[in-house]
Amino acid sequence: MEIKAQNIEIAYGDYLAVKDMNILVEKGKITTIIGPNGSGKSTVLKGLTRLLNYRKGSVYLDARNLKEFSAKELARHIGVLPQMHSAPPDFQVKELVSYGRMPYQKWYERCNEEDQRIIDWAMQATGVWELREKSINECSGGESQRVWIATVLTQQPEILFLDEPTTYLDISHQQEMMRLVKKLNRESGIGVVMVLHDLSHAMEVSDWVVVIKNGKKYDEGKPEDVINPRMMREVYDVDCDIINIPGREKPLIAYREIS
Ligand code: ADP
Ligand code: MG
Repeated sequence: MEIKAQNIEIAYGDYLAVKDMNILVEKGKITTIIGPNGSGKSTVLKGLTRLLNYRKGSVYLDARNLKEFSAKELARHIGVLPQMHSAPPDFQVKELVSYGRMPYQKWYERCNEEDQRIIDWAMQATGVWELREKSINECSGGESQRVWIATVLTQQPEILFLDEPTTYLDISHQQEMMRLVKKLNRESGIGVVMVLHDLSHAMEVSDWVVVIKNGKKYDEGKPEDVINPRMMREVYDVDCDIINIPGREKPLIAYREIS
């Protein structure tokens, strides 16, 4: 399965936030979108998942235009975790996670055995099984992020879209989130498209990196090809060295000292 955007253009009123965007994301791969604040990363993600309408161009899921899918049908192919999300108070973790099954149910149906099996799998895969009786409000930032991912996973998506899944997490929880993403990708073959700010993480976990600057694609490719000193200067206005260290698979990004 793949999702392909062809020349999409997305505007907020008169403001053109994304232009000439061509992007291909494939099931089974980890694709990371990077770029400065306000460059249009979230807007692109929303365009690819039909959360926003595009003014020009088209988006295809395999050979079919995204516009032809019903909401429920689309939710069985892709799962989206937006940048901001909130739960009403007093939701139990297991209750929230079970709502992810809605795309598979009729309005009058409750969870059947099959649904329950998938809900349990999702809670186990994301390590929230022990939290299932807790209220979502009693969960820490890292925990609630995993609960949300479990919820989206019960949709059994082929591709998972995550907008800044590590923001507001401390370093160990950031690493835990990256490990979870890799595990889901490796073990379940789920494609992942995510927006990340941490370029070291992007370097480590991505198969493909798309760089966005001012609403346009600046570059794309393998992380070690795309994340280079020139891109860092032109896109982020930051000086850095990229250092290869024997014994490490991926190079390190060393930012110039702050003076
Ligand atoms: P990023 O995710 O890269 O930080 P966004 O995609 O959220 O950037 O935003 C891209 C541009 O569009 C920014 O200039 C932002 O201010 C603008 N923008 C985003 N959402 C809206 C909105 N709902 N209404 C108007 N402008 C918006
Ligand atoms: Mg954003």
